[in-house]
Parts: sequence; structure tokens; C-alpha cells
Amino acid sequence: TDFTSLGLAAPILDALASKGYTKPTPIQEKAIPVVLDGRDLCGIAQTGTGKTAAFALPALHRLSAAPKARRPKSCRMLVLSPTRELASQIAESFNVYGKNLNLSAEVIFGGVPIPRQIKMLATGVDIVVATPGRLLDLIDQHALSLRDVEILVLDEADQMLDLGFIHALKRIHRLLPQKRQTLFFSATMPKTIADLGDSFLNNAVKVSV
Ligand code: AMP
Repeated sequence: TDFTSLGLAAPILDALASKGYTKPTPIQEKAIPVVLDGRDLCGIAQTGTGKTAAFALPALHRLSAAPKARRPKSCRMLVLSPTRELASQIAESFNVYGKNLNLSAEVIFGGVPIPRQIKMLATGVDIVVATPGRLLDLIDQHALSLRDVEILVLDEADQMLDLGFIHALKRIHRLLPQKRQTLFFSATMPKTIADLGDSFLNNAVKVSV
């Protein structure tokens, strides 16, 4: 299989070609058709398997296929990540794979001054990549609402639980629209993680590599 047969839009294929990527990795081959279909996904995959592109490519496709004007203090896609390093890498991936699309991706995490993040969110962003704690700080300051989220990704869910984000995740869950697509990734799937996944997912397709 190569990327052209997966049904991704031409501007995304062009971005992949300029990165030199021709063949999807196994997680990409399994996940991309499911996500393009609008289904929820529960994926067991480690870092290094290409899982970022497995959710970023089809999500970019879906967002660009149904363009919407940016709304102040709002986003269409939310990606939750355990650490600032991973969040930055994910946002960078969205910008690389989406370079030929008119979609903005921004990262928010703790440790940097909040006013700049508030200003950045004021006009609205298409894709927000965030660590859970700083995301809730910004929501509490009315800098961002989750009411327009169409696609939610929980990346490295096991790491987020290990870092003590369970209550933050439960609060975030209550602020999300019921009608959305959810993509849940974890390197391991013990019962606590599977239960967390079940609380977010709706009739998810399970994929593992
Ligand atoms: P990830 O597992 O998302 O951290 O990705 C691991 C690395 O693989 C990253 O440096 C990606 O840029 C790279 N990568 C992702 N998909 C592909 C692909 N289809 N072909 C070659 N490299 C890829």
C-alpha cells in the first residue's frame, strides 16, 4: 500500500511527498481508513510507530473537507498530550502535514506566560494541542471553550494517568460536546486505561500494532 490509495486529499499527499514519505506504517495503514470514515478509534501503539501521522493525516483531511470559519476562543480539534515535548512535536507534525491547507495548529502547555496563550486563542485556532493542566487553566480563565470540538485525540493515555491527569481528563470530558469523533492511543492497555478509553469512546474500532 502507499499513501495515494488511502483516500487522503491531494494537498496532504503533496506534503507527505515533500517529506519523502511514500508508504504508510502499519498503524497508519490500519488507522487512517477508520478515522476518515468518522469512526472512533482505540489504538495500542508505541512512540516511533508513526502514530502521530496516523491521527493527524486523516483528521486534517476531515477538517479541510468541511471548512469552517475560525470562532473566537474556540477550536475544532483538541489533542491532549502528557508532556510539553510531545505536545510541541505533535503541533509541529500538524503544521508540516497541513502546510498546504488553511488550518492553524497551536500548542499550549504550562511553564510559559499565560497572557500570550490567551491572546493566541482569542481569534480562534483550528487545532489545539495541549497538556491537560494548562488547558484547564485557560478554560477557567475563559480563554477557550471546548464546545466546538469535532475531533478529540488522547495521546499516550497511559502516560497521562501516570502523571496524575485523571481528574483533569474527567473535567475536560464534561466540557466536550457529546457529538464528536474520539481517537484514543496508549502504549499499554491495562484495565484502568481501557476503562478511561470506554468513558470517552463510542463504538470504537480497536487497532494495535
Ligand atoms: P511517531 O511514532 O508519531 O512519533 O513517529 C515516529 C517518526 O516516524 C517521526 O519522526 C515521523 O516523522 C516518522 N514517520 C511517520 N510516518 C512515516 C512514514 N509513513 N514514513 C516514514 N517516516 C514516517
